[in-house]
Amino acid sequence: MIELAERIKKLPPYLFAEIDRLKEEVIKEGVDVIDLGVGDPDIPTPKEIVEVAKKALENQENHRYPSYVGMLSFRKAVADWYKRRFNVELDPETEVVSLIGSKEGIAHLPLAYIDKGDYALVPDPGYPVYPVAVMFAGGEAVKMPLKEENGFLPDLDSIDKDILEKAKLMFIGYPNNPTSAIAEKEFYEKVVALAKEYDFIVASDNAYSEICYDGYKPISFLEVEGAKDVGIEFHSLSKTFNMTGWRIGFAVGNRDVIAALGKVKTNIDSGIFQAVQEAGTYALNNAEELNGKIIKVFQERRDKMAEALKKAGFEFNLPKATFYFWVKVPEGYTSAEFTKKLLKEKGIVVTPGNGFGDTGEGYFRISITNPRIEEAVERIKSAVV
Ligand SMILES: *Cc1c(COP(=O)(O)O)cnc(C)c1O
Repeated sequence: MIELAERIKKLPPYLFAEIDRLKEEVIKEGVDVIDLGVGDPDIPTPKEIVEVAKKALENQENHRYPSYVGMLSFRKAVADWYKRRFNVELDPETEVVSLIGSKEGIAHLPLAYIDKGDYALVPDPGYPVYPVAVMFAGGEAVKMPLKEENGFLPDLDSIDKDILEKAKLMFIGYPNNPTSAIAEKEFYEKVVALAKEYDFIVASDNAYSEICYDGYKPISFLEVEGAKDVGIEFHSLSKTFNMTGWRIGFAVGNRDVIAALGKVKTNIDSGIFQAVQEAGTYALNNAEELNGKIIKVFQERRDKMAEALKKAGFEFNLPKATFYFWVKVPEGYTSAEFTKKLLKEKGIVVTPGNGFGDTGEGYFRISITNPRIEEAVERIKSAVV
């Protein structure tokens, strides 16, 4: 048999694949499993969006290859929404590119800028796609530890000058998966200043900007002065509108970076199915109303989960955004030991923190994309007494 390429042999096991395998084993034993593992909303896409897609499906023009960068109507809806939501001006023609889910864009961006041996800075713990995409492009992902004492923001002052000089790209993502931490303007200002000083591109992943609680509204990296000179922001309809299966997202910001990402895409994929873009356009044009209803459900669950975890004596910061609780593992366990115990003894799937990087050791991530919150916490609690 022909040997696999180095880039495949170097891959860590995909986090959720491993957990899925263990979960299947437990289900086979007849256990009623509650899955608080993946960040995939269990609630269906709002029916108004589905209706738009149904109509668009009948239109034969939509059956042909879509444009690579996306329909102008979709990109205009993106720009309009950014203006309404963040007060950021975007030219839909040059500063917006549609993506087949933001994961696609995140995975392709390094191909545009990273050559063999180039450095890219990535958060640890972090979305596993960042380091893998850098590695696939032949580069080296340098981890920026996210520590609780820094509010799970990277300590920018502690990054080696040599590394900053060699870095071509920095990934950041707030509201953060997995820690649920948020970033404010001062942090983004520091990032922009550093990017200008050392000349690297910033890729901000803002997939969770609309999954927020208690009236808090996350900001965009692009709200900061000068941000558009150095970077882009990834966004997705997946979380905002319960549309993970539809595969639609976008990147906005610096026109050269958007064009470079577009160039990679032109040579690899063929754009988003236009019926999905029409649905996405409708969703963005009606974002406030559609997302408002979705958030109500998650706010209730967040409140329930917070109360139950507190009662059970777990240590965590109350998430102001995202689907996630980033919880300290009880004393005497590693992340892997505790999450395995929860699955095997209690039928609860949560994600071990170290699966997102070494700095995640000592934590586990609970996702509230499952309605069985109280029941789940009862079981988690019974695992530690
Ligand atoms: C869910 C998620 C995304 C969005 O993925 P899509 O490909 O748009 O579905 C991006 N970044 C992070 C950190 C996520 O958790």
